[in-house]
Amino acid sequence: MTAATRRTLLIGAGGLALAGSRLAAQVQTVPVPPPAPAGSPTAYPYAVPPLSYAYDRNEPSIDTLTMQLHHDRHHAAYVSNLNAALKDYGELQKQPLPALLARLGDVPEAIRTTVRNNAGGHANHTMYWQVMGGPGGDPAGGVGTAITRDFGSFEKLKSDFNAAATRVFGSGWAFVVVDRAGKLSLVARPNQDSPLMDAGPVLFGNDVWEHAYYLKYQNRRPDYLAAWWATLNWPRIEERYEAAKAGFLTL
Ligand code: MN
Repeated sequence: MTAATRRTLLIGAGGLALAGSRLAAQVQTVPVPPPAPAGSPTAYPYAVPPLSYAYDRNEPSIDTLTMQLHHDRHHAAYVSNLNAALKDYGELQKQPLPALLARLGDVPEAIRTTVRNNAGGHANHTMYWQVMGGPGGDPAGGVGTAITRDFGSFEKLKSDFNAAATRVFGSGWAFVVVDRAGKLSLVARPNQDSPLMDAGPVLFGNDVWEHAYYLKYQNRRPDYLAAWWATLNWPRIEERYEAAKAGFLTL
C-alpha cells in the first residue's frame, strides 16, 4: 500500500467514525484527502517513489550527495524519459511495468530501446532504494536459509556477487533473482537491463554505474561493492522473498 493510499484510508476511517458519533457536525472539518499523486511507481504515468529513509541513511557506505543525485536526478530522468516515450501509446500505458519489460518485443521499434533503457532503469532503481536503508549484518529467516542452501554461505554469496559486479564492463547491475519456489540465482546485466526481461523477479541487486559510487570511490568499484552490503535492509528483503514465493513481487 502506498503512503498516499494509507493516508486516504486513515482519513476515510476517521470520517466514518465522526459521522457515527454525536459530533457528526464536525465531519465538515475533516480534511479533504490530498489529491492523488501525479504518478505511481508501478503504473503509468510513472513516478519516482520517495525514499523511505533519509538521504544520509546509507552513510558512510554511500554518501549523501550521491544518494540525492542518484535518486532525485538519475532515477527521475529514467521516469521522465519513460513517460515521454509512452505518451502516445495508450495500450502500452495500461501494461504493468513487469509485463512491459517481459514483452519488449511487442513494443514498437520506434520506442523499444528507449523503453528498454528507461523502464529497466525505473524498475532497477525502485528495487535498489527499497533494499537499502538498513543496518546490513547477516541475513536471517527464510532468506538466510535460502542463501546458505543456494550459494553455500553468505560469505560465498558476497564473494561471488562482488566478483560478478566487478566483471560488468562499463555500466550495469548484479542481481540475486528468485523463482516461485524460492530458489535464488546470481545474474549480471549490462546497462539498465532488468532480469524482469527474461529471468523473473529480483530479490536484491546493486548498481555498478559510475554515478552510483564515483563521488566517493572514484574508480574503486570493488571498495563500493564491499561497503554496499552494510546498507542492506534484510527484513525488507525477507518481505520481498515472501512476496516472490507468493507470486506478487513486482519491482
Ligand atoms: Mn543508477
